Amino acid sequence: MIRRPLHIGLDVDGVLAGYMAAIAEVGRGNGHTMSGEGPLTYELIEPGWFPDALTAAAAMAQLHERGLGDLALLDDTAPGAVRELRNGGHKVSIVTARQEHRAGESSHRAGRRDLASWLARHGIETDDLLFMQQKSLSGCDVYLDDAPHNIDEIRSAGRIAVVRDTTYNRQVPGPRVISLAEFADRVLRGDFNRQAA
Ligand SMILES: [Mg+2]
Repeated sequence: MIRRPLHIGLDVDGVLAGYMAAIAEVGRGNGHTMSGEGPLTYELIEPGWFPDALTAAAAMAQLHERGLGDLALLDDTAPGAVRELRNGGHKVSIVTARQEHRAGESSHRAGRRDLASWLARHGIETDDLLFMQQKSLSGCDVYLDDAPHNIDEIRSAGRIAVVRDTTYNRQVPGPRVISLAEFADRVLRGDFNRQAA
């Protein structure tokens, strides 16, 4: 069987970049203990995280205002895995729900510039950067994402969403991987061709 090249959509926050660790740091700065083992929910309103929606939203707003350029690389297998996928003939897009623009006149495409330089700094070379809330609209065959609501949306549209394993998505059914390296291995051995066909 000849395998056709796939269009792969990679999420950024919670897949490539350590968003939750950065939010926890902001929360500690705001006087919360941030001692939870989780988070066990994507909303982060739970014991050891934020007490309510207001404090959680405030911390996220602070982090976005400060810029997401300082987030740590979450998965050090990512640069090599993306390279392998592209060498294998697959197209790799970033598909993120981040904002492409920041508020203010001079901030046209500032979110895109920040993300492009973050990816370059970490040696992650993709084919393009797609900014969209409704990720299935990017038309990828296979997505890698951590957020339960994005995984639902992608699967509802008939596409394959692979879960990037973390504490707040354990209730979501598979397929599931723990790293970009594992994801690339599975793509390259054709695990998702049968389903995407
Ligand atoms: Mg994410």
